[in-house]
Amino acid sequence: MILLLDDGLNSEKQNDICLRLQKLGFYTRLVSFKGKVIIALEAKAGVKIKSICFEEWFGVREVVSEQFAPFYLSSSKFQSSKSLIKITNGQQNVTFGGSEIISIAGPCAIENEEDALQAALAIQKTGCKVYRAMIFKPRTSPYSFQGLGRSGLEIIKTIKENTDLIMLTEVRNPLELEIAADHVDVFQVGTRNMSNYELLKHLGRANRPVLLKRGMGATVQELLCAAEYLLSQGNSEVILCERGIRTFEDYSRFSLDIAAVAAIKELSHLPVIVDPSHAAGRSHMIESLALASIGAGADGIMLEVHKEPDKASSDSAQAITPQRFYNIIKQGRGLAKALNRQLV
Ligand code: PEP
Ligand code: MN
Repeated sequence: MILLLDDGLNSEKQNDICLRLQKLGFYTRLVSFKGKVIIALEAKAGVKIKSICFEEWFGVREVVSEQFAPFYLSSSKFQSSKSLIKITNGQQNVTFGGSEIISIAGPCAIENEEDALQAALAIQKTGCKVYRAMIFKPRTSPYSFQGLGRSGLEIIKTIKENTDLIMLTEVRNPLELEIAADHVDVFQVGTRNMSNYELLKHLGRANRPVLLKRGMGATVQELLCAAEYLLSQGNSEVILCERGIRTFEDYSRFSLDIAAVAAIKELSHLPVIVDPSHAAGRSHMIESLALASIGAGADGIMLEVHKEPDKASSDSAQAITPQRFYNIIKQGRGLAKALNRQLV
């Protein structure tokens, strides 16, 4: 259960409420977020909660309804206006959640300096501002290419010297977070780590924007609960990403759940983007899924772009060439304009 406290209640009064709850047999957790304070409470075994009318307690503004309690801070009940998540590298800015639709592009993984830089230069030319600078790759088989790891940092450095692109990279544990922290602007949590709650807690304290991808077997609510781990640790800079879920359909690699975009827009104030590449798994589907995502109201699209897709060391079947990326951006800009938005 979540209690929302009155605005402006001093910390002594907040603690008094916690103590009173603890004496009644509740575990309590006080969380401050965006100037509001909540208490999450859980009854110990045998404690009856139904008979207590918390709303009548001094300092309690509201008992949050059960529907929103598990992901209250992420929910539109907590904040009805959309969150604007601004990301900057000091040269470029993008804002997720406003009228701009942000494109993110780059190879599945950084493989070597020449290919990574060529892709970055081509992507920058289209007006795209965010680069997939992936060096730690979570792969299904341990025998597949695992990414360059720490040695990829040198390549990220070169790309930064030659472009003004914002750098996004996936991290899978706190050590990788530390290794990448001085070199990138946004951290990604991949589908396989959406439920890695200890990692989420670390990222919640990392003071850095996070792109949180939906687990391939997770519901929208589970995605919002994962976001709640970040928010409840104090990180408000969270962008959600729909990237396809497992269904009985096996033509696509995953089934892109376009409905999730509309669902998240209703349930949450957080921006939501779509990754058609990992959903499709086949490059011929990328155009239509990217445009469908824009049509559905996504705040961004993330696409895997490789100079020579056939030669990519990972996810080669879904990568598109820089030329095809350019064509999608061109078409997407027309569609975005019709929707009173701008694709950048
Ligand atoms: C990725 O974006 O590099 C990636 C591995 O995606 P996902 O976690 O969605 O499979
Ligand atoms: Mn990939």
